Amino acid sequence: MKYCSTRGAVRGLDFSAAVMMGLADDGGLLLPEEIPQLDSTELQKLSHLSYPDLAFAILSKYATDIPATDLKDLIDRSYTGFDDQQITPLIQKDDLYILELFHGPTFAFKDVALQLLGNLFEYLLKNSGQRMNIIGATSGDTGSAAIYGIRGKQNINIFILHPKGRVSPIQELQMTTVLDENVFNLAVEGTFDDAQAIVKEIFGDLDFKQEHALGAVNSINWARVLAQVVYYFYAWFQVNKETGAEKFDVSVPTGNFGDIFAGYIAKQMGLPINRLILATNSNNILSRCINSGDYSMADVHHTFSPSMDIQIASNFERYLYYLLGCDGEKVVRAMDIFKQTGKLEFTDKQKGQLKLDFSAAAIDDSETLTTISSFYEKTNYILDPHTAIGIAVGKKLRGPEFPLVCLATAHPAKFGDVVKTATGLDPELPEQLIKLAAKKRRVVTIPADKNRVKEYLAANAT
Ligand SMILES: *Cc1c(COP(=O)(O)O)cnc(C)c1O
Repeated sequence: MKYCSTRGAVRGLDFSAAVMMGLADDGGLLLPEEIPQLDSTELQKLSHLSYPDLAFAILSKYATDIPATDLKDLIDRSYTGFDDQQITPLIQKDDLYILELFHGPTFAFKDVALQLLGNLFEYLLKNSGQRMNIIGATSGDTGSAAIYGIRGKQNINIFILHPKGRVSPIQELQMTTVLDENVFNLAVEGTFDDAQAIVKEIFGDLDFKQEHALGAVNSINWARVLAQVVYYFYAWFQVNKETGAEKFDVSVPTGNFGDIFAGYIAKQMGLPINRLILATNSNNILSRCINSGDYSMADVHHTFSPSMDIQIASNFERYLYYLLGCDGEKVVRAMDIFKQTGKLEFTDKQKGQLKLDFSAAAIDDSETLTTISSFYEKTNYILDPHTAIGIAVGKKLRGPEFPLVCLATAHPAKFGDVVKTATGLDPELPEQLIKLAAKKRRVVTIPADKNRVKEYLAANAT
C-alpha cells in the first residue's frame, strides 16, 4: 500500500514514511492511494475477532511494510492500558447504542489512536536509528492523551505547553503527574492561543526544527485516522449480531473532522453505514457546509464542549480530495482560495455529494444541557457534553429503519461542571483520577516567550 498527498506533489510513500512525515511535505495530508475493499465474506470472518485482533486485521491492509509479527505486537501492547476488556464497549440505552471510547488511560477517545501512535513512533525510530522531539500546545485533553501515548518510549521526548491555570484541574493533574524522564510539561504564562502561537513559530524555524528533529502528534497523522477506523467495524459487528440489521446509522461529535473521517473510510471499505451523522456544537462550519454548501470561517465560540471548539477542521482536506475527484491541483487551488477568502464554494453536484455522504446538524449549549439532563432522567446514564451533542443530533437525523450507534468521546467526570449544571449531580470520578491528587508533579513555569521555550527545548531535547 502506497500513500500520496491530497495536494498531489508527494506520492509513493510506504506506510512507515507516511507516519513519520505527518503533514505531507507539500503542505497536504497523506492518504492511501487506494482504499481496500472488504466483501461480505471477509466482513463475516472479521466479525468474531477481539478488538486487538480486529485492529490487526484492518491495519495489515494499510501497514503493508511492517512485518506482521511486529505489527501484531505493537497493536497488542497499545491496547493493554484500557480498563475494559472490550476496549471500546458498546452498550444499549434508550432506543440507541453508545460506543464508549473513553476506557483508555486518560478517559477520552484520543487514547485509542495515541496509544498506537506512540508505539509506532518508537518502533519506526528504533529501526531507522533516529530520534524525535514532539512539541505541542494543548487546551486540555489532547495534551494528556499525547503524553500517555509517548511516556516511557525510547528515542522520543515530548514537550507539552499548556496555559498556566487555564486548563481544568483534572487535566492539569493528568499531565503533570507523569514523571517519566521523556515527558516535559511547560505551564505557559499566557493563554492557549499564546501557547499555540509559540509552537507554530518554533515549527516555522526550519533550521531549529531539523536540528532537534521536532515532530507533532496532531490529528492529521494518518495513523491516528486509521486507528479510529477499527472501532466502527467493532461496533457494527456487535449491533449486527444483536439486531440482525442490514445497515446502521452512526452519529459522531466532530471538531477536527478526524473521527468522522475515519467513519467515512470505514464506509468506503464496505462497512454498511447507512447515515454517517456529523454533529457539531455552535462552531458549525462543517454542518453549514453539508446542509447548504456554506464552508466559511467564523469566530471561534467557547462552548461546553471545548474539544470541538474548532473552526478550521484540518482533516476536512482529506474529504475534499475525494470530493474534488482525487485531483491534487484542484485541492491546492481550493486551499489557496480558502486561505485568501476564508471560504470555499461548491458546485450543485458537489453539494449533492456532501449530502449523500453525511447528514449534519449543530447543537448549542442549552440543548447540550437539556440532552444530558433528559437522557439521565430516562436512562440513569450520564453523558459528557461532547457525547450529548452526538446523541442529540443522532436522534434528530437517524433513519427510521436502522439501529443507531452514537460515539461517546469522553468520560463525563472529565467535564463534571457541565454535568452538574445539567443534572445537579457530581459524576463519580474513576479511581485512577482520584488517586492523581496525591501524586508527585513535575511542571516548569515559563513566560509566553518563544525564545525561552526554544532554550528549554534545546537543553532537554533527546
Ligand atoms: C477531540 C475530541 C472530539 C473531536 O474529535 P475530532 O476527531 O477532532 O473530530 C470530540 N470529543 C472529545 C472529547 C474530544 O477530545
